[in-house]
Amino acid sequence: MTIQENVKLAPYTTFKIGGPADFFCSVTSEDDVREAVEYAREKKIPFFVVGGGSNLLISDKGFRGLVILNEMKGVKYEKVNSKKEKEDKKEAGGIVSAAAGESWDGFVEYAVSQGFSGLENLSSIPGTVGASAVQNLGAYGVTAGQFIHAVRAFDTREMKFVELSNADCDFEYRDSVFKHEKGRYVITGVDFKLEKGGKVNIEYKDLKEYFAGKKINAPTPREVREAVISIRANKLPDWKLWGTAGSFFKNPVISAQEYASLKEKYPGLPGFPEAGGKVKLALAWILDNICHAKGMMNGNVGTYEKQALVFVAKPGATAAEVVGLAQELMKRVKDATGVTIEGEVERVN
Ligand code: NAP
Repeated sequence: MTIQENVKLAPYTTFKIGGPADFFCSVTSEDDVREAVEYAREKKIPFFVVGGGSNLLISDKGFRGLVILNEMKGVKYEKVNSKKEKEDKKEAGGIVSAAAGESWDGFVEYAVSQGFSGLENLSSIPGTVGASAVQNLGAYGVTAGQFIHAVRAFDTREMKFVELSNADCDFEYRDSVFKHEKGRYVITGVDFKLEKGGKVNIEYKDLKEYFAGKKINAPTPREVREAVISIRANKLPDWKLWGTAGSFFKNPVISAQEYASLKEKYPGLPGFPEAGGKVKLALAWILDNICHAKGMMNGNVGTYEKQALVFVAKPGATAAEVVGLAQELMKRVKDATGVTIEGEVERVN
């Protein structure tokens, strides 16, 4: 493993923004991970891990520490047939393990091609397998956490490799222990428990409409994957043309009471029931219909013309411009609705 110095970080993020890291290395094995963390410890410098860089906003000044690029690769499948599954003559499911640096979408394609169901709604999302656990990746009513069996990681507090069960990961809406205990774990691999022949989830409106238009009643995971790829291609910016990190904010979750009073003021406001009687708001709708911020540009950065929750950045955009836009939108939402919104994108200063 080689440590490089003064490496520009912008090319390692999908925002294509970010100054240099003082130190930078790529890791391809667990030994590399340990070595990189020990290097940062000895030098008494902070470190952080980058996967696909698709949920990251790095400061224009860069990072005064070590950036560890996770390029660990490999996928393996272990068939597990429970007694009950055998009795029911159900097809075997199993544990599919992927190294943290594997491309997320490549992994979803592998799962679908092997006949597994579950992950197809998470198609076409950039980033790595490791990041799917950090963020509890979610789209179209499915989250990665629903299928994660265990996560293997280097615990930098105890300086040893550990395995976290699904419960240990504390998965919540776009959230996990890896966010709560930021910097503690370097994820090296994720085990998914997947089934063959399970039911697909096409509850979201765009998916329902897609299949209704094609007159398909019971789509296969492959068909759902194709639908998601097509819907996302029409609704989200082309990552090759724009700098972007996808949704910049999380959808806020508020009490049913707050929702009822907002609904009086804004009758069209969509709300979706959440655990504990709470309601999740569609922030894209608020930004579009209340704040009139869809497609707005502030200098080199703006919100995407087809999806206001997604920020887009022109070449030459700075992190300061992105933060300025985020603050402006947070204020507009707060003033109009009283709701405080939070970023989904991880910020590195
Ligand atoms: P959409 O279908 O237009 O829906 C707008 C919002 O309403 C979504 O954010 C979604 O929340 C919520 N929603 C819609 N139908 C729902 C239902 N049946 N039950 C519960 N919540 C519902 O959203 P979109 O912008 O086209 O995005 C589609 C999916 O892709 C969403 O799940 C979104 O999160 C995901 N996505 C993720 C990123 C990213 O960067 N992470 C970027 C774009 C889209 P949820 O967001 O909680 O699902």
